[in-house]
Amino acid sequence: MRVVRDPREMQDLALAKRRSGARIGVVPTMGFLHEGHLSLVRIAKREADWVVLTLFVNPTQFGPKEDLDRYPRDFDRDCALCEAEGVDVVFAPETPEVYAPDHTVYVVEDVLTRGLCGASRPGHFRGVLTVVAKLFNLTLPDVAVFGEKDAQQLRVIRRMTRDLNFPVEIVGGPILREADGVAMSSRNKNLDPASRRIAPRLYQSLCAARTAYEAGERRMAALRERVLETLGDLSPGAVDYLEVVDDVTLESCGERADAPVLIALAVQFPGVRLIDNIRLD
Ligand code: AMP
Repeated sequence: MRVVRDPREMQDLALAKRRSGARIGVVPTMGFLHEGHLSLVRIAKREADWVVLTLFVNPTQFGPKEDLDRYPRDFDRDCALCEAEGVDVVFAPETPEVYAPDHTVYVVEDVLTRGLCGASRPGHFRGVLTVVAKLFNLTLPDVAVFGEKDAQQLRVIRRMTRDLNFPVEIVGGPILREADGVAMSSRNKNLDPASRRIAPRLYQSLCAARTAYEAGERRMAALRERVLETLGDLSPGAVDYLEVVDDVTLESCGERADAPVLIALAVQFPGVRLIDNIRLD
């Protein structure tokens, strides 16, 4: 396995690979890898001949009051996990190599990013799309794999790829969870014990809505109520948002959840914001 730091070296390597006819897969991550990330690597290995995992804590997707400085990092452990998984290249650039000090160009999506995390984290998706576009240009993938854990992100990246004609196939991977249902996340490490004890309620509440949906409940307000009821008092956490949205447009589904919907929620715990979602079809 090769570790590449220099963006130019990464691009030259990818260009040579593409010219040799290899199919390139990329898995973009911010590191502190867990099974969720590794499940995406396994998908990429099935889909491509040569797999690049990118490790970059992207500052432009963090707001000024967010957890950029506290974001967990463990480069050596990440590399060992990648090696064991058969990753071909770990691309781990430094911030000044990725962003010129006077960079002025960003990628912005105007509609799918209006709600959910786009509303509570202004500028977040501008940072995500900009870095993903840059990573596509540096790793030249045929296929890129992203997790359903970040459901809005996946849909926004699909839209960017379509609208900017990136020749990249976007593949989504299912959410991997801890035994108690908590969606795996690098940020879970930063939960204090009280918050970690409450965290399973996020998924439990989504499952309660799914049970109601499977029993025929289609009223949006009733589905939402099931989630809130199960969430109960989350202190020391608090709900940031809870939305039942159309799975394609990400707009509120209106009074009835007749088309496939996504129930997405974000909970702010002390110093850690967790997101989760479920798709009902
Ligand atoms: P992150 O390092 O958190 O930016 O995530 C990198 C990629 O891994 C994104 O495409 C995430 O959606 C995906 N991911 C994160 N957590 C999970 C999980 N629990 N299951 C599946 N994919 C995940």
